[in-house]
Amino acid sequence: MIFTFKKDTSEAELQRIVSELEAAGIRTARSPESRRPILAAVDPVPDETRARLEALPHVDSVTKPRGSWRRVDRAFRELPTVVDVSGVPFGARGVAVIAGPCSVESEEIIGEAAETAKRAGAHVLRGGGFKPRTSPYAFQGLGKEGLRLLKAAGDSSGMPVVSEIMDASQLPAFLDHDIDCLQVGARNMQNFTLLKAIAGVGKPVMLKRGLSATLKEWLQAAEYLAAYGCDGIILCERGIRTFETATRNTLDLTVLPLLRQWTHLPIIVDPSHAAGIPALIPPLSRASIAAGADGVAVECHPRPAEAKSDGAQALLPGELATLVAETRVVAAAVGRTLV
Ligand code: PEP
Ligand code: MN
Repeated sequence: MIFTFKKDTSEAELQRIVSELEAAGIRTARSPESRRPILAAVDPVPDETRARLEALPHVDSVTKPRGSWRRVDRAFRELPTVVDVSGVPFGARGVAVIAGPCSVESEEIIGEAAETAKRAGAHVLRGGGFKPRTSPYAFQGLGKEGLRLLKAAGDSSGMPVVSEIMDASQLPAFLDHDIDCLQVGARNMQNFTLLKAIAGVGKPVMLKRGLSATLKEWLQAAEYLAAYGCDGIILCERGIRTFETATRNTLDLTVLPLLRQWTHLPIIVDPSHAAGIPALIPPLSRASIAAGADGVAVECHPRPAEAKSDGAQALLPGELATLVAETRVVAAAVGRTLV
């Protein structure tokens, strides 16, 4: 249950309710919401306790979360959450574009990719140092050196950077190089040890949807991050595994209007890993923004044929520039702007 209180509720009254719930063995979570006090009961609340609390003069409303999450439920915040990635807001009126190669391959290529992405109008640079490759024989990434090169390219082009972390043992490398946003990839969405390890380090986390994850499983993974201290969670829909083999995955745009009702977290879309085909990425980006995405994350490469991973789905710099320009038009059509 999530209890929303009237604005003038005193701390003493809130504390009294917290103590009463905790005394009954019901753990509570206090929303960081500043506009009014909001309190979630983490454990089930017996009907009679709920009825009594609901009748208190300071309680405005009581909402039942749609799943077993609490902190990421829409009712836990008054307004949708805006996540700041080193100056780039996700979830505000502006729509953000994340772009960059699948993996960091060399200083020269990531530098060129960063410059062209910046010129195209992108806001955040992506690139993997640690790559989750399906084959153990495929390029596994440059590791820590890749993070160094990514950060340097982000600094020189003036963009914060996002990169995938696959294991808690890699965390010091991400912190040493001040990677602005930690990406949890589809394959690790339910790696709860990883989620717990990265939640409290003070970095925003982009949580991609698992290959076959339901929305409830995805939000429960996000709840792990929130419960362990992360207040900067960005959800990223990246396509799910279906019977269809014509595309790499099937982009599920349903999540945009549906999760808006279920959660206050910002939601972006990665059409690159969803489609796997460059020609599909611009229309899917436009559709994502039209359906309410707070941003898109796309892969681009100055010379896709030479890419060491996901070259077949990489946009050319010119294609990225067109995508950003079209994104701006669609954003305006739905009352938004670019960041
Ligand atoms: C990626 O972003 O390069 C990636 C591996 O994505 P996903 O986890 O969505 O497959
Ligand atoms: Mn990729």
